[in-house]
Amino acid sequence: MTTWDSEVDVAVVGGGACGLMTALRAARNADLVVAVFEKSSREGCNAAISSGSLAAGGTRFQAAAGIVDSPQAHADDILRASGDEEWRPVVEAVCAVAPLLVEWIADTGYPVEIGADMPRAGMSVPRLHTDVGRLGGGRLIRHLRALVDGHDNVAFVDEAPVAELVVVDDRVAGVVVSQNGSLQRVRARAVVLAADGFAGSPALVKEHLAHLGNPFYGGVSTSTGDALPWALALGAQVRNMGAGLRSGLVVVDHGTRVSPALQFNGAVLLDTTGRRFVDEESKGYSSLAGVLQAQPGERAAMVWDATAMAATRTSEMMRECLAAGAIRDLATLPELAAALALPVADVERAIAPLPGRRPLEAPYHLAWVTHGLLTTQGGLVVSPAGEVLDATGTPIPGLFAGGGTACGLAGPSSDGYLSGNGLLAAFGTGWIIGDRLAEG
Ligand SMILES: Cc1cc2nc3c(=O)[nH]c(=O)nc-3n(C[C@H](O)[C@H](O)[C@H](O)COP(=O)(O)OP(=O)(O)OC[C@H]3O[C@@H](n4cnc5c(N)ncnc54)[C@H](O)[C@@H]3O)c2cc1C
Repeated sequence: MTTWDSEVDVAVVGGGACGLMTALRAARNADLVVAVFEKSSREGCNAAISSGSLAAGGTRFQAAAGIVDSPQAHADDILRASGDEEWRPVVEAVCAVAPLLVEWIADTGYPVEIGADMPRAGMSVPRLHTDVGRLGGGRLIRHLRALVDGHDNVAFVDEAPVAELVVVDDRVAGVVVSQNGSLQRVRARAVVLAADGFAGSPALVKEHLAHLGNPFYGGVSTSTGDALPWALALGAQVRNMGAGLRSGLVVVDHGTRVSPALQFNGAVLLDTTGRRFVDEESKGYSSLAGVLQAQPGERAAMVWDATAMAATRTSEMMRECLAAGAIRDLATLPELAAALALPVADVERAIAPLPGRRPLEAPYHLAWVTHGLLTTQGGLVVSPAGEVLDATGTPIPGLFAGGGTACGLAGPSSDGYLSGNGLLAAFGTGWIIGDRLAEG
């Protein structure tokens, strides 16, 4: 006979993007009692340190800007980049709800705008939505937390890591929560794993992502893959464990990231010998990481000018770089060449525009960039409804997973990650699971 310390209808493991959205959607049913157990919000979740860029196809914000888009076009772009046709049902499910959730977030009082100035590789039309003022994901998570606090039927329990699942008669029946040094057994009709991936676990990264070498880690320390072994013990499957959300735009010695829009505003990349080794516009920031990993010293000099700076400096990434002193200002070509320790003529040749691109003009800006790992993209196999599936494709009763705990949208390789995939998967699965639970 199992004994319980407390009982709820829905137990959500993790209070980040997926967990908050799940709770908010489920809580629309006033008869449900929802508890969100959060390991520790002191450091914050990955969503809170993210840029907060929300990818959605077919929103009213795009329509107002004259951008023709749809959930299907969005899904097709993601699948073209990932090549992961097997995952199409999940990709299409989250793309279908993406415009609904972006508009809903705006309707709850959050200032949303379409990032028409945020071009990204692989995106057929501007599709990233952002906050007016460009303050990033911290602002968004604070907003969602405030919404959660406004619900009488949701408890956000902080400093309360979930330690394991409780299984009764082959059904997930609750969770064991560690609180103030004691373990509490909480009964729940449904458990939602929203604890993100495992990029913060050196052992799991070594096991699954050794091919990434020794990247800078740009995510939060709480992403330690806690939920994976619990689900695996119940027969769940994982896929695409070798894929991550990488960034080739991490500034050496600073850990800040330069804006991914710089590449589309003329910025060039040179290796330590002054060689231009890539068509900068052809790579997303995740696939650029692999290109940088292969360069001498696993780094490159990114050079841009005042026009590119003006087009990107309002982003939270560039503001953080400027505040950290991560960008050098060089008034003339000889100054730039001296900073790169290269002959002036070589630098002039190297930064000459590719066909159809504009030339850079002095004064210049310079940052040395390297590759980093932000989050993992592999995870649990789920249905489009967020149910965790066993090896036969059968849902494990009572268990759901979303966000970075579930398999993401990048496909088998980090190169398949399209900008905005992370929060799309997290909020999209949270929306779908929460709505399903609200229906009873
Ligand atoms: C620097 C950076 C920038 C990014 N920028 C973007 C962007 O602009 N757009 C985009 O789409 N994606 C972006 N991403 C990716 C995006 O942030 C993640 O994909 C997304 O946050 C995943 O959502 P999640 O809910 O799964 O995890 P999170 O938002 O990380 O939330 C997971 C929560 O679970 C908690 N937790 C972990 N283990 C336990 C446990 N045992 N018990 C209880 N709680 C637990 C954690 O403390 C955390 O609060 C970025 C990521 C990083 C690191």
